[in-house]
Amino acid sequence: MLRFTGNRPNGMMNQGKGACEMRKKEKISAREFVAVFSKALKTGLSVRTGFSLLVAVCGFPMALMPTAISLTLRRFADEVQDLYGKGAGVSQTAFALFFVLALEYLLQTCFQVLQSYFSKKDALDIKEYIKETVLRCACGVKYKYIDNEDDFLNKMAFAKTDSGYCVANSIGDSIVWFQNLIAFGSMLYILQEVDGWIVGVLLISSVPAIILANLQKDEEYRYKTKWMTEGALVIHRFHDCCAQKSLNEVRFLGLFDFLKGKWRHSADRYRAVKNAMTRKHVVCNLAADFLRSCVFLFVLYLAARKIFLQPEIGIGVFLLVLNTCGSFQKTAAKLFSGAAQFAGDVRYMKDFFDLEKVEKEEYGEECGLANSEIVFDGVSFSYPNSENRVLKEISVRIHPGEKVAIVGENGSGKTTFINLLLGLYAPQEGTIMIGNLPLAEHVRSCRKNMSAIFQNFGKYEATIRQNIVISDLDRPEDDRGLLELMEKAGAGALLENQKNGLDEMVGSLSDQGNNLSGGQWQRLAITRAAYRENAKIMILDEPTAALDPLAEAELYRNFAKIVAGRTTLFVSHRLGVSKIVDRILVFQDGRIAEDGSHEELMRKNGLYAKMYHAQAQWYN
Ligand code: ADP
Repeated sequence: MLRFTGNRPNGMMNQGKGACEMRKKEKISAREFVAVFSKALKTGLSVRTGFSLLVAVCGFPMALMPTAISLTLRRFADEVQDLYGKGAGVSQTAFALFFVLALEYLLQTCFQVLQSYFSKKDALDIKEYIKETVLRCACGVKYKYIDNEDDFLNKMAFAKTDSGYCVANSIGDSIVWFQNLIAFGSMLYILQEVDGWIVGVLLISSVPAIILANLQKDEEYRYKTKWMTEGALVIHRFHDCCAQKSLNEVRFLGLFDFLKGKWRHSADRYRAVKNAMTRKHVVCNLAADFLRSCVFLFVLYLAARKIFLQPEIGIGVFLLVLNTCGSFQKTAAKLFSGAAQFAGDVRYMKDFFDLEKVEKEEYGEECGLANSEIVFDGVSFSYPNSENRVLKEISVRIHPGEKVAIVGENGSGKTTFINLLLGLYAPQEGTIMIGNLPLAEHVRSCRKNMSAIFQNFGKYEATIRQNIVISDLDRPEDDRGLLELMEKAGAGALLENQKNGLDEMVGSLSDQGNNLSGGQWQRLAITRAAYRENAKIMILDEPTAALDPLAEAELYRNFAKIVAGRTTLFVSHRLGVSKIVDRILVFQDGRIAEDGSHEELMRKNGLYAKMYHAQAQWYN
């Protein structure tokens, strides 16, 4: 199991158990540690801007500043004591020392402000970097991982939070650790000059706090893993109460009190455990702080005693000890717990880099299709992590320019067939050829020649124009052509009330709250698919699901114009589609049970005829 450290972001809570429980407690060898850590440093370095690194590097000499201030303070106090003893007025040396002290404080404050600005700026850059990395990974891996093969989704969720931050922060954390080391070394040097005992006592007094910090991190980790499901439930129940998509039903059925009760029940249990742990930590930390404070006072006593016994040392020593002890204790704690944290972080970092090892989609070498024929030859397929064969020995040839409807009961394998055709999954048995090219070896070339409307089509927060042209960004823009295409695809009416026409922003975030209806979005998706001019094959998976009957009829009427001679596969539950296609494939339990024209299948009086009659009886 991986360790969760106290400062890590809390994103794991909404991912359920997996992200954490997937990890086994594995030992990392010293060689692996060095390899992973140096890779993280290299990656972390690439996230930082030159200026931010410059500020970080300036932090090394600045780490000496607390010691420099203590030393100046000591000399200043000694000078003042000397002048007081002689009954003299303010000397030039006292004045100069005061000036240096003021300058040191000013420099320290300015640097802290600069450092805090860059650390905030870097935090934003780091977030962007992590998002971009995760996005690139999600878009490049084989599609089976999107179905959580090899626990991929949890690893991605983990990369977005803990493991990603460990990598991106590695360089910053290392710089801070070395700055602390410099500060610690310089303070240790001046304190042992005063009295070696002081250093020993201070170091020993920091030990309980260091041990406690590590124990608490471990306990927090165990808490997070043990209560992760509960934490996720609290978030889900809260969303049930207020998620926009369920709000209508919640209000209509008056479910607010019921859902709130469920949410509160989970939240109270979750919070009670967390509060008990926090209380324990507060009490333990209080005890450790109390011990540190006692030691601090004891050290002051030692310093005062030394001055009392040897007055020639001067009052400055007392001020030096007073000014340095607290920082020394804190820096020692940071140094030790920081080292322990690096050891734990390497496991997070390894998880992040493991994402690179995931199989990527292979696009194959680019070449043109000879034609738009589609051939499935003995294709069988099971989804990752499933033994169930969803497609069984499918063999079918779809001729160039043919219009084919794919029908069948729910779960019969229609969408899976389409997913295979789009090269999203690879079959375990058999081959798929598109235009004489084996799809498995030429995914990119085949996809370039296809256009598709997915069941869960994209709804982009962009202008109407961008929502369409996104399918073929290389095509030169032509507003007239675009408007004609929208008319054909039934999306023309969409522009009627838009004051900016094609450039009107759509989506829930647009200024005018211009959220389109499901049917309007679907019309945009149809136009988008039709816009892909060079596609020789068109795949429409339930393209009329959200359309009203008139819009559906219009689509059927314009079907020939929209698909414009392309080989077309049209998945639909509505058997009206049979009137506009040449051929119908009827899927049943992962096989093509019937194959023929509407008339042929009606004559056969099999499954298709049964489905057709079942639907038709409500319209007669
Ligand atoms: P249809 O489109 O005909 O309704 P699908 O092709 O979506 O059917 O599904 C066929 C079968 O495959 C169903 O039994 C379904 O449960 C299963 N299935 C679909 N998607 C997945 C998936 N991602 N992982 C595992 N099984 C799946």
